[in-house]
Amino acid sequence: MVKIHGAFYLTVGIVVLFYTHYVENKIGSGRLRFFVLVGYLFLVIGIAKILIWFINRKKETKGELGYIGNKPQNVKNHLGYCPRCRTPLRGNENFCYFCGQRLR
Ligand SMILES: [Zn+2]
Repeated sequence: MVKIHGAFYLTVGIVVLFYTHYVENKIGSGRLRFFVLVGYLFLVIGIAKILIWFINRKKETKGELGYIGNKPQNVKNHLGYCPRCRTPLRGNENFCYFCGQRLR
């Protein structure tokens, strides 16, 4: 999954809304309602993405603290297992965080 930061959506939403507002003032009609809708849609997605990112970041920090001394039962998005103790790993560790087995 390609991660697009919420700030990108937020920026696109703001640009679309400002541009639509500018064009609407020039031609003076309500024909650009669709673009206003798209602009707000991007704004909402952007805010939602930033919120989700913020919540996930908090969860991750808590989760890593919880790993000390107890074996995690279900690690999301793990890429493999430790060859010695079968702990799910995320693939970016040099050593297994449970048993200390060297991984690369
Ligand atoms: Zn291990």
